[in-house]
Amino acid sequence: MESLANFNTQFSHWLSGCVRVCPICYAKTDTTRYLCLTCERFAKLRQYKQWARVQDGTPILSLYKWTEREHEFFRLFAASLKGGGPPSIFEPYAAELLTLRAELRKPIEKTIGRPWLIVPAPSSGHGHRDHAEELAWNIADLSRATYLPCLKRVGLGAQKTKSLAQRWSAQRLGLRGTPRLSAEFLYIFVDDIVTTGSTAAYAYKCLGKPPHFEIWTLFNRPRLRGLR
Ligand SMILES: [Zn+2]
Repeated sequence: MESLANFNTQFSHWLSGCVRVCPICYAKTDTTRYLCLTCERFAKLRQYKQWARVQDGTPILSLYKWTEREHEFFRLFAASLKGGGPPSIFEPYAAELLTLRAELRKPIEKTIGRPWLIVPAPSSGHGHRDHAEELAWNIADLSRATYLPCLKRVGLGAQKTKSLAQRWSAQRLGLRGTPRLSAEFLYIFVDDIVTTGSTAAYAYKCLGKPPHFEIWTLFNRPRLRGLR
């Protein structure tokens, strides 16, 4: 019986290495591709070729435009990345963000030569890197920038029961340890989704309001009508 269980485990490992399904439409996809070809094309058509938006003077770089019409598609896409998944998923998205950023760089831009500090949105703290950290780590790795997971969540307990105004005024992020922060760096705050930008605003405050600060995310989802 033991050998049968062993065989089953090995077989399922082998199977998961050969057959993958698209997290959005469940079509079979090859092992090198995260989304199936159809979904990948659908997503590609919704990619930004410019800064997603600028909020309070902070430029926001996002790969995908999450609109009301495609809500279900992007909801499934984002949900499938939650918690991290296989780390290899995030490398192509990190590469695409870097390519987009390079294309948007103006020739006289002052950040040229400025060291980058990649700061992920803090995870729930279960020990392993989660989705935002995985994306941030890959961006840092590909661009040879410094990866600094220096933020932590604080006082999350009763968030849901508080009013929006209370949530905004409450401190939600704090610094982990005493990182060496300098105004010389370009700070890149990395998260999976930007909606109101409130998490990034807390991050900016925690990092000492650095003069060079950008937000990079996979999805830009401005507040949608009829959705919370
Ligand atoms: Zn698909």
